[in-house]
Amino acid sequence: MSFLEYAPAPESRAILNLRDEYGLFIDGEFRAGSGTSFATISPADESHIATIASASEADVDAAVAAARRAFDRTWSKMSGRDRGKYLFRIARLVQERARELAVAESLDNGKPIKESRDVDVPLVAAWFFYYAGWADKLDHAGLGADPRPLGVAGQVIPWNFPLLMLAWKIAPALAAGNTVVLKPAETTPLTALIFAEILQQADLPAGVVNIITGAGATGAALVRHPDVDKVAFTGSTAVGREIAKAVAGTGKKLTLELGGKAANIIFEDAPIEQAVDGIVTGIFFNQGQVCCAGSRLLVQEAIHDEVVDRLKSRLSTLRLGDPLDKNTDIGAINSREQLERVRELSRIGDEEGAERWTAECAIPDKGFWFAPTIFTNVQSSHRIARDEIFGPVLSVLTFRTPAEAIEKANNTPYGLSAGIWTEKGSRILAVADRLRAGVVWANTFNRFDPSSPFGGYKESGFGREGGRHGLLAYLQGPGGTIEQAKRVDARSVKKEVSS
Ligand code: NAD
Repeated sequence: MSFLEYAPAPESRAILNLRDEYGLFIDGEFRAGSGTSFATISPADESHIATIASASEADVDAAVAAARRAFDRTWSKMSGRDRGKYLFRIARLVQERARELAVAESLDNGKPIKESRDVDVPLVAAWFFYYAGWADKLDHAGLGADPRPLGVAGQVIPWNFPLLMLAWKIAPALAAGNTVVLKPAETTPLTALIFAEILQQADLPAGVVNIITGAGATGAALVRHPDVDKVAFTGSTAVGREIAKAVAGTGKKLTLELGGKAANIIFEDAPIEQAVDGIVTGIFFNQGQVCCAGSRLLVQEAIHDEVVDRLKSRLSTLRLGDPLDKNTDIGAINSREQLERVRELSRIGDEEGAERWTAECAIPDKGFWFAPTIFTNVQSSHRIARDEIFGPVLSVLTFRTPAEAIEKANNTPYGLSAGIWTEKGSRILAVADRLRAGVVWANTFNRFDPSSPFGGYKESGFGREGGRHGLLAYLQGPGGTIEQAKRVDARSVKKEVSS
């Protein structure tokens, strides 16, 4: 055994109390769905986890009707102080059941337990605590003279951060006084259903939050439902476009959080060891299945070889395997379909003439796996420099001057996030000002906080989640329509500098 090998340290599944079958959570209780049920499986070994109900149009209708009743009869009439108490209660219950939620998330999604335990679930609790604090302060936050909720919010989320995306959607909606129908992604419904149990434990009034499972058709029925006042979507740009078309002209408010192809820019004066760590966090966190992943590394020419060499030796120490093992750094890709997409784009990278390097690691026999991969000699015109791969694949490009770095960084249809690594504070400010990205991290990457607004430009969508800005999307007035959201975007570019 070499000194880098670790004995297995699996987190126990005994804490889970899963049902064999899960129904839809409508009007405060679980009920059967009238669509065809489907299985959710573990991407690490393809084993069956549970059978999940699928919501038909009639079920979507029932969920929206329950949310409307709850809005009219209870939630919109309740004081902000009382709404806040429910949100605090939910946050505390998430903390109490944190280990169980982390194990369920890693089982269903494939992400390493150390990430779901130390990042996802603590942030979920933080989001509910944060917005709980806002619920009774809406009148004093510059949100207009008489801030009012919109009504029923239809929310559709992806599979990469299942419970965290749920929290980003539900916490501000409830704080602002809306009721919710949420659809989790079809490959990762488990933690949303455990969350429904938490809502029962919290005695949240029936119908305030409804969780309906199913595939794209269920999501489409929800966003098109005529009694939905607000649509919030996180997912791919292609589906976001379809939703924008479906919602156009209906008067529904819309926010879209879509894809990204972030530039992580390393200047030659950067602290190299920290930058290498930041590159690893930027693209290999959650197997690179992160909308704001630093998937394009822009490195100043003079330090290219040094950075790439250090990166390779660092990646050679990462451990790929069982997501429930506490020593695992790289877990499974969420689905066979996603794995095929990562493989296909990487194959295109080979064809286009980029140079592939793959970390040596044993790939388990079953499940969906892709070893950490770096492409060097990448040109801006290559598909692997333009398309979102959404996997553990880094495309390395070089630049000579700050102006060239900025031009290359902005040369993308997306505009979600970016990173800058340099020891010069003045350079951070100058470059950040010219990057067309919703979030700019400096000397750090992939840091999230409920008080920081997050969201994109261009094909990355519009509207902001998090912070006071996140409330605007759930209140009448600014922050709802496409034009209003764009104006809000222009004011809310977030720049973060690590201390
Ligand atoms: P996806 O668009 O395929 O699916 C997202 C959700 O939309 C799922 O729940 C799906 O069932 C549903 N859906 C599919 N078709 C629909 C339709 N026609 N109408 C309504 N709903 C529909 O995306 P995905 O593959 O699950 O997620 C990956 C994508 O999400 C990536 O592009 C990633 O960048 C993006 N993402 C963005 C953010 C962000 O904050 N900007 C965060 C996480 C993920």
